[in-house]
Amino acid sequence: MQGDAYLKCIDLRCGLEYPINSINVECENGHLLDVKYKNKPSDSLKEVFYKRRNSQGNIFDESGVWRFRELLNFCEIDTKNLEQCSKYLVSLDGAEGRQSKPYQMSKVAEFIGISNNNLWLQPEGYNPSGSFKDNGMATAVTHAKMVGAKKIVCASTGNTSASAGMFAANEGMQCDVYIPAGQIAPGKLSQAYQFGAQIVEVDGNFDDALKQSLDDAKNHNGYTVNSINPFRIEGQKTIPYRVLEYLKWETPDWIVYPGGALGNTSSCGKALMELYEWGWIKKIPRIAVINSDGASTLSDLYNGKFEGEELRWNKGNPNTELITRYYDHLDKQGIRPKTKATAIQIARPANILKGIRALEFTNGVVTSVTDSEMLDAMSIVGLNGFDCEIASGASVVGIKKLINEEIIKKDDVVVGILTGRQKDAMLPVEYHSNPKNKFAIPPKN
Ligand SMILES: [Zn+2]
Repeated sequence: MQGDAYLKCIDLRCGLEYPINSINVECENGHLLDVKYKNKPSDSLKEVFYKRRNSQGNIFDESGVWRFRELLNFCEIDTKNLEQCSKYLVSLDGAEGRQSKPYQMSKVAEFIGISNNNLWLQPEGYNPSGSFKDNGMATAVTHAKMVGAKKIVCASTGNTSASAGMFAANEGMQCDVYIPAGQIAPGKLSQAYQFGAQIVEVDGNFDDALKQSLDDAKNHNGYTVNSINPFRIEGQKTIPYRVLEYLKWETPDWIVYPGGALGNTSSCGKALMELYEWGWIKKIPRIAVINSDGASTLSDLYNGKFEGEELRWNKGNPNTELITRYYDHLDKQGIRPKTKATAIQIARPANILKGIRALEFTNGVVTSVTDSEMLDAMSIVGLNGFDCEIASGASVVGIKKLINEEIIKKDDVVVGILTGRQKDAMLPVEYHSNPKNKFAIPPKN
């Protein structure tokens, strides 16, 4: 299937195309890129994917990412040929996405006020590095290997660095992690250190660290694995694939994500757009994105809270100047994102345009929630025997809020994505030590 996959600028007025082995993360006019496929995969593959769940020792069938390899075949290989799979596809022995599927959690359903039969939650924290990032990192590092990169680079203070470091170590690649000097608690980088990543401290804030990592990629043969990399988005499409497969390809009414850099929103939207175009699904689920109140860029812009205009994709003509003015406003007022949910503590979502494109396609909604609401939600997930980080609580309490506002109807089928496992050991300890918290079980003597 040589010549099937290519890169295309998402801006409809620009639309520049590049070969699939290009390492640009943007077109030459500075727009984001999509991975595109010329062929339309047959929906008879649904049966193939289902059968692969009995993996018979084949790690690419065991992997929750590569099980769907025909739908992300940017390597353009014969996906039935195991030798080719081994030569190209990057996998942590099939562990990425392997344990991810939707579960029912009765106590969470009761907390939300929805029938247990209508609520599904999919924990992505049981990935090998502890978050959903492994889905997209498996594919991004595959592309890095395909183009012969020796070093991957990212700017990250948490989940991304852990995932990048893990795959780099496993592939014998170097991994450089850029962070703003003096602003990150060293404990948050413990996984990156453990996997042998090189931490690079940059004077300035997170945006400066990202800028320097992009310069490093451009000028010193590094390969960027932040979510502006379109191959990250490809792997993260498998999150909704696993949801849909488990629901026998009957589309739910809603898929709900926490909103940070908007890589997940973008990839869910792209997955649904493709499946709809290929005739695999007849109905389009609505996406709901839940920001933290302390990092609510998308919610502010989408809901018209800034200058009274609602930011929309507008069929490919988004008002990007509105976004620029919003960022200028943040700078002028000295407003920095602030939330305990550091995984979504992002003021300038790198994928905002792909995000609003996804929202337009799915008739999506955006809202925001408080830290204290997310902590309660994180804790009730724990009382069902599942571990998640505070940012994942956004999905749960976001569903509750949207039901109370009657945007999500009580008989809708809703899937919430729990994006990562607990990374801050003290949060649950502090939560449960305070008897005033809703679900606290304080220690006793
Ligand atoms: Zn362009």
